[in-house]
Amino acid sequence: MSMMLKKTLLVSILSTSLVVPMMGCSSTTNSGVVGADRKQLLLVSSEEVLNLANQTYQQTISEARRAGKLDVNASQVTRLKRIANNLIPHTGVYRADAGTWQWQVHAIQSDSVNAYVMPGGKIVFYSGIIEKLNLTDAEIAAIMGHEMAHALREHSREQISRQVATSSVIGIASSALGLSSGQAQLASLAGEVGLSLPHSRTQEAEADKIGLELMARAGYNPNAAVTLWQKMQAQSGGGSPQFLSTHPSSASRIKAMQDLMPTVLPLYQASPKRG
Ligand SMILES: [Zn+2]
Repeated sequence: MSMMLKKTLLVSILSTSLVVPMMGCSSTTNSGVVGADRKQLLLVSSEEVLNLANQTYQQTISEARRAGKLDVNASQVTRLKRIANNLIPHTGVYRADAGTWQWQVHAIQSDSVNAYVMPGGKIVFYSGIIEKLNLTDAEIAAIMGHEMAHALREHSREQISRQVATSSVIGIASSALGLSSGQAQLASLAGEVGLSLPHSRTQEAEADKIGLELMARAGYNPNAAVTLWQKMQAQSGGGSPQFLSTHPSSASRIKAMQDLMPTVLPLYQASPKRG
């Protein structure tokens, strides 16, 4: 994300927090069978976050297109879109509005083993994660379901809200300590605030379990989420995949998914199986 966008985001967050105080805890989604019912601190509006995310996504896509790296492999893109289209109808379990979102998925040509989502369901897969891990359709569905869950739960909005909560504290500190100290702290906050903030462990665990439910309902064997993480760990021996830097893998994470199998496998068994 460019520094200019970061500053724009910071300014709009600060003005939002001053003008429209939306204090309170609520949940962005229904809980699903996996029980995603954690209450969230949401201090900025979805619209504000979406506007900025859309700008950033468009910029990313345009840059990749100019570099000749956008959707280079037609069959790969078709495959990603087919899997996304199988998953999207099931997002309605979590929130009624998600079926009408402008979901997008693109592939960017890169050796990087990474994938991410931006608020509102704008998904990017780097070709490296598909090719180096030799992903099956079900493993792609596991990554995509996980990324879709971050968007459904508005995890970025929640992260930004935490920054807003911190910035209020900074505001008080700056008036007490004098402007220069406050400015220094704001400058450091501007460096941290962004749509690319790493998600918390709690959010990652939540995305894992929602992802399992989405893939199972769409007809992809949820056990593939486990093999995916095992592949990811094996790959980390020869230079850590970038995906792992924002998604720390651990035995406990795999164990938590295995523990959920009895809950999600019946959904898979009842589905039109696809992988
Ligand atoms: Zn994640």
